[in-house]
Amino acid sequence: MTTEITSVKELQKMDPVFGQLSFDNHEQIVFCNDKDTGLKAIIGIHNTVLGPALGGTRMWKYNNEWEALNDVLRLSRGMTYKSAISGLDLGGGKAVIIGDAKTEKTPELMRKFGEFVHSLSGKYITAEDVGMVTADMDTVRSVTPHVTGISESLGGSGNPSPVTAYGVYMGMKAAAKYQFGSDNLEGKKVLVQGIGHVGETLVEHLTKEGALVQIADINENRLEEVSKKYGATIFRGDDLYSADVDIYAPCALGATINDETVYRIKAKVIAGAANNQLADENVHGPILQERGIVYAPDFLINAGGIINVYAEIAHYDKTEALRRTENIYNTTLEIFDYAVKNKLTTQKAAMAIAQNRIDQRKKENAKR
Ligand code: NAD
Repeated sequence: MTTEITSVKELQKMDPVFGQLSFDNHEQIVFCNDKDTGLKAIIGIHNTVLGPALGGTRMWKYNNEWEALNDVLRLSRGMTYKSAISGLDLGGGKAVIIGDAKTEKTPELMRKFGEFVHSLSGKYITAEDVGMVTADMDTVRSVTPHVTGISESLGGSGNPSPVTAYGVYMGMKAAAKYQFGSDNLEGKKVLVQGIGHVGETLVEHLTKEGALVQIADINENRLEEVSKKYGATIFRGDDLYSADVDIYAPCALGATINDETVYRIKAKVIAGAANNQLADENVHGPILQERGIVYAPDFLINAGGIINVYAEIAHYDKTEALRRTENIYNTTLEIFDYAVKNKLTTQKAAMAIAQNRIDQRKKENAKR
């Protein structure tokens, strides 16, 4: 989101699309405009080697179009790696709608957006992201089949967040095993930043296991509610990054590991749901590694949601989706090993494995 993006002045210095900082050989970028509904959207298709580009639609009040464009470029690229590392036959895509989801989202606007998705004939498949709810996906479904995450009553897979939380929990346990020698989280001090759809379920898993959970959120009511429900402690310090905890779980916004915070972090494991946690993977990944902090790559451990919606395309059931999500534990450990053997950060190791899978498939496709 906006906090993850460089300054507008920097963006404007570059060529409008192919020259953007976040442009990474994206296959197609579609600008959608509709005067009647006020729709202004951008669909980013990063890569379709493994399959159709699947990724959610985010509605956000961007300050300007540069921010929206860079967000869709970054997010769609992330989806390519997320699906590739999770073994899904999907490419990477994402869409952004420019506007305030609370005041500007209408069924007409969502239907028009669905028509644009439909015009891509299945090359891009949409889903829910920030600013969207399942009912919006149901509206999109009324004009195109190229949408996932629709209501269970309509044959969809419903809310992906609990499955995402389960995957994050699995990734966290794997990281704990690697760092502390055991995946048992009982007695471990875990700070969960952001107790929304994913964060709350993560807190549930952690407290059940006996972890000592602290929670932080900008929403005071949520803090009281979640604290009461699971017996988690509300973090009241000034600086959560330097909190004396074993594990830090970013489950709010991206880019929380940045120049300001990276040297303050005391936790020895970082494992959370937020997308793009490292403000700059080339800078902050190596610093974490030098500091002996194990970072569980976000796009790997938060893949439960996409594994769940993929069930709608691949026609498997919830049990299979959970089994695949549980496997995030093994994949996380494999990535840590690969990182050590190849002298890479864990983030770069995960990206390399994902890229290998794409390159391999590209070769196979070329032979056909
Ligand atoms: P959500 O909107 O339900 O919850 C986010 C929570 O973070 C809210 O309670 C909000 O008040 C809090 N928050 C916002 N700014 C904060 C700040 N500065 N400090 C502390 N708390 C803050 O979102 P979600 O669906 O739970 O997703 C959480 C993160 O995980 C997002 O970054 C999302 O992109 C990512 N993610 C979610 C899914 C999914 O299935 N929902 C899948 C993959 C990735």
